[in-house]
Amino acid sequence: MSGASRPNGVRQGLAARRFVLTVEIATPRTREPFEQAIRPLLVLAREVRDDPRIDAVALTDRSRSDQDHDPILTGHRVAEESGKMPIVHWAGKDRILRHLEADLQRAEALGLDTFLLVTGDKVRQPPGGRPVRYLDSVNALAAARQRSQELLLAAAVSPFKYREEELVNQYLKAGKKIRAGADFLMTQIGWDLRKYEEARRVLNERGYHAPLMAELLLLTPARSRRIRRVGLAGVTITGDLAQRLEEEAASRDGGRGFAFRRLALQTASVRDLGYAGAQVSGLDTYPDIVRLLDEVERATRECPTPEARRQAWRELLTLQNGRAVQVAPAHGLYLKPGAMGERSGGARAREWARFRIMDVIDHLLFKEGAAGARVLAPVLRRLDARSGVGRLLLRVERAIKGPLVGCQTCGFCRLPETAYVCPETCPKGLANGPCGGTKDNVCEFGDRECIHNQIYRVSKRAGLLAHLEETLIPPVPETAWDSCSWVAHFRGEGPKVTRLPGDRA
Ligand code: SF4
Repeated sequence: MSGASRPNGVRQGLAARRFVLTVEIATPRTREPFEQAIRPLLVLAREVRDDPRIDAVALTDRSRSDQDHDPILTGHRVAEESGKMPIVHWAGKDRILRHLEADLQRAEALGLDTFLLVTGDKVRQPPGGRPVRYLDSVNALAAARQRSQELLLAAAVSPFKYREEELVNQYLKAGKKIRAGADFLMTQIGWDLRKYEEARRVLNERGYHAPLMAELLLLTPARSRRIRRVGLAGVTITGDLAQRLEEEAASRDGGRGFAFRRLALQTASVRDLGYAGAQVSGLDTYPDIVRLLDEVERATRECPTPEARRQAWRELLTLQNGRAVQVAPAHGLYLKPGAMGERSGGARAREWARFRIMDVIDHLLFKEGAAGARVLAPVLRRLDARSGVGRLLLRVERAIKGPLVGCQTCGFCRLPETAYVCPETCPKGLANGPCGGTKDNVCEFGDRECIHNQIYRVSKRAGLLAHLEETLIPPVPETAWDSCSWVAHFRGEGPKVTRLPGDRA
């Protein structure tokens, strides 16, 4: 069956403004051969075939390990068995643009047209002998959209950030993702209903009306322990929430009943908040999915109004000692209506001084028509960056810009677009805004402040926040690495940024 004739419940549901429900299944690891590994998944796919309440199965990309099976091939088989168009997740980790293009072509040939494009969490075991690159989700979205207007594209957003820089950056990047081609957004996993509310409101305030779906997880005590022990990028389980789950673990079924009730209430609550749908994960069998659907019906029947459902949610998040469970860190930030980016404070003195100095240098040496550019351009534009003189210039560039900005000699300098903070000092090399992995403003890799915080602070003080939201910065081409970016700049081979249009919705 071709993609065009396979029913796409997500597309239809979003168009009809019906609450969409999708079930996320982790694509299996490669330690078992493909046919054997996907067998349970195909059983599930057959079972959801005739259940109109389930719009799609979503397949993760390398969520279990760096070597999970291919979600495109898995998605194709799930589509055949379920008769429904799946959502195929595609992560940019350890990938570049040509991988995306090849994968989209493969997917197209297999009749798949719906994708969640993310940057992905960090590679667990980096391969030796070569650098690991990450394709920014914004670049992936723009490339996929350029390839076809017919694809149904989703992007991720995490409202579960509690410091100004990381939080506002998430919303700015969400806007950029919509502008780059996302048809709808999917939140990170979380349990903070105020944040779900905030995300919907902030995006609306900024003129983004693309549908928003919530990613929800069946949170059992065992799963909570595991997440707190090994971590799940961007997901916060507070001590309070973990304590509540331990109290639930003492119940006769080990806390599963509470977990289903909480997931059901959360599903109903995000529907109350105007979300377009929910993607539920942690349900591995069809009976579990049916149990959740039954629980949602029961919760809606027993708590017939949004306020009653909120009350039931609060009761479910109360400790045995009567104290309310705090699902957010203490003193976490919630944006007030209309307040995005307008809080006091901006760049620190040193950051600001650095920005001003770099900006002056850029305007004197590199901007078209500048005095320095008039001298340098005629010489450098004739130079081959890989020639002996080119390599000498590369060494000079490294010697100057290394200590100044942590230059990695990518050969494709994007500093003027990122407030002169080198995007290559981000371990994922992201230029279009942060990934979803920050916690308390700290990078997912745990060894530095997220570099996009500084970009945000400086841009805010310079009045350039719109630049972060509207400008598409291209990724470094494979051929540019370890060459002098000055030569590329004057040869007209440097980065060409694009101002993105508004929401397509
Ligand atoms: S610096 Fe920021 S964007 Fe880069 S990996 Fe760390 S958290 Fe993600």
